[in-house]
Parts: sequence; C-alpha cells; structure tokens
Amino acid sequence: MVKIAVIPGDGIGKEVMVEALKVLEQLKQDDPTLQIETTIFPWSSDYYMQHGTMMPKDALTILRNYDAILFGAIGDARVPDDVTVWEFIMPIRKQFQQYVNFRPVKTLQGIASPLVNGREIDMVIFRENTEGEYSNSGGHIYHNQPQEMAIQNTIMTRLGVEKIVQAACDYACKYGKSKITSATKSNAIIHSMKFWDEHTKHIVEKASPTLTLESIYIDALVAYFVERPQDFEVVVASNLFGDILSDLGSAIVGGLGLSPSANLNPEKEFPSMFEPVHGSAPNIAGKGIANPIAQIWSLGLLLGHVGRADAEKRVVSAIEAVLKEGAVKTADIGGQATTSQMGDAICQALVNIRQTAGGV
Ligand code: ATP
Repeated sequence: MVKIAVIPGDGIGKEVMVEALKVLEQLKQDDPTLQIETTIFPWSSDYYMQHGTMMPKDALTILRNYDAILFGAIGDARVPDDVTVWEFIMPIRKQFQQYVNFRPVKTLQGIASPLVNGREIDMVIFRENTEGEYSNSGGHIYHNQPQEMAIQNTIMTRLGVEKIVQAACDYACKYGKSKITSATKSNAIIHSMKFWDEHTKHIVEKASPTLTLESIYIDALVAYFVERPQDFEVVVASNLFGDILSDLGSAIVGGLGLSPSANLNPEKEFPSMFEPVHGSAPNIAGKGIANPIAQIWSLGLLLGHVGRADAEKRVVSAIEAVLKEGAVKTADIGGQATTSQMGDAICQALVNIRQTAGGV
C-alpha cells in the first residue's frame, strides 16, 4: 500500500486538490492493483490563524511516514509571505532533501502558445531546490537609520551543485537526450556562479561522453526561451534562476494552470512532494474556475515516482485527450468550464482510455 499525505493548503489549492483526488479515485476504480491510501492534512494559513503556526511542531515527523506528499498551494493575505514560505514549504524541501525541483515544459495539443514559434517545446527544467540564493543566511540591521543594511547570502555547496547536475544528467541519459543547458551568470557573480560552472562541467563530462553541455548567461537564456524554445532539452539551474525559468517555461506552453512540478529526493530516503507550479491565486480563489490540470498532472508525477509509471501515463494521456478535444476548457485557457467540470472531463477521458484499451 502506498501512503500519500495530501495537503490542499490555501486558496485554489483547496479547489484543485478536490479534482486531483477525484482523478485518483477514478484511477483506483479502473485498476484495483493501484493500492493507494490518502490522508488529508489541514495545514494552511487558516491553520496558522487558529494555532499560530503553519503546521504542528511534529509535522515533519508525521510526514516522514508517508511515501509521498501531494501539495496544493500556500499563500494568504492574512499571513506574511515569508511565514508561509519559510515555515512551511522550505522546511519540507530542505529537511526532506528534496534537492531536485523537476518541471516538465511541453507543448500540448489544443493549447496555443503565446509564441508564434512555440509549437514543438519539450524540455524539462531541473532547479536546485535546497540551497543557492534561497538561503536564510544573512540579516537586516540598523532598521530606520541611515546606515540600515541587509545582507542575503547565496550558499552553493559542491555536493549541492553536483547532485542537481547529476540528476539532470541521469534524466538525460535515461530518456536519450543529448544536451544539458546550464543557466549561469559567472561573468558577474564571480564566486558562486563560477563554482557552479566548474562543478557542472565536471559532472556532465563524467556522466556520459555523448552528453554536450552549453552554459548560457541567464539574461541571454530567458531571451532564447522566447526566441527558440524548441532548442532546449534538459535545463539545469540554481534555485533562483530555476524558479524564474520554470515560470517562463510554463507561460510559453500555455500558463500556470497547466504546469506541474515535483520536489524530489531521488534517493527516496525521504518523501518527495508534488505540487502545481502556480500559487494560491487569491484573485480567483473561491470562484470554482481554477484550472485543476497542474494539480492533476502533479498527481501523475507522484504516481510515476512511487513506481506506477503506467498510471502516470494514463493521467497525462487523459489530460492530453481533453485538451485536444477542446470541448472543456477553463477560463485561463480560453473556455468557460468550472474546476469541477474539468476534473470530470479528465475522469471521463480515463474511462474512455480504459475502454479503448479493452480493459472494461
Ligand atoms: P501566490 O501569492 O500564492 O503565489 P499569486 O496570485 O501571486 O499567488 P499564482 O497563484 O501563481 O500567484 O497566480 C498568478 C496568476 O495566474 C493569477 O492571475 C492567477 O489567477 C493565475 N493562475 C494561477 N493558477 C491558476 C489556475 N490553476 N487556473 C487559472 N488561473 C491560474
């Protein structure tokens, strides 16, 4: 039995999670060998308003007993962003050594890219997820005085750089990709980014003689993502650069409502966490119009991670079938369907796939 901890969180996280769980039920109905048990945890900004913490003190000990975490989104105007991020997402990512943030960026039939040349995009982004620019090393002193100052340190460790680049190379070798693109800025950030370049080069050279490495300055790389996105296969980046690139990646294939992500501990020593790229979207929360695809696809990635690549494939095929048909679309992709109608359409597509495969 695979045990999944489910944390819907805030805003549209709660709404899109309902649909992901609906899809999971459909998958289980279709395939009794899919033995998955879910436990829902209410940790969120509402929980913070009641208890003064985003999650209980022993939350990580509780989560440690699960095979994976399916997470919605966090963010609420009543709670400062640094609290929601540093008391919730960061401890999970860091303590569970989820050092790979994996984000597929793929053109989907039925979804128009805002780019005229954006038809054949198929890349994955490996973002370093536990160190780099997102460190809490630093300080802010002399508040409200002329000498007031803030320091935010970037921390790059050799192990950290090597592990994320190795994960990108392993993926490239497994899926027959030939090129790794590394995002850098070593002309200006001469200590940490030079260090990144050096160890990236070393790991890619060691990984496979058939892999080529291109290192591109981040400012040029964002322009290339717009001008020639089809040229990229596997992109590896530090925490901040990866964060920016993956939101851009998501935008060029149709938007945040479609983009899944995985925070992976590849060694499976700790549970990995799967979540949509988008946040809590307070501007549309409570309206029932959010697109649940990013959340449902994140469930798909989770299933692949726990050894059910077959179920992941079915989820992705169902999403692709609904988008290709185009009859059910939420507002973000040019339609009028509700969150729940999109969830239902994906469940129906799963049924159709099973019937076509003769599995009724
Ligand atoms: P947060 O503070 O939690 O990050 P945000 O609104 O700043 O929230 P996102 O939640 O990522 O950031 O949303 C950015 C924009 O994309 C918003 O206009 C939002 O409505 C839209 N959006 C995000 N996710 C979805 C979705 N699943 N369906 C439809 N629109 C979405």
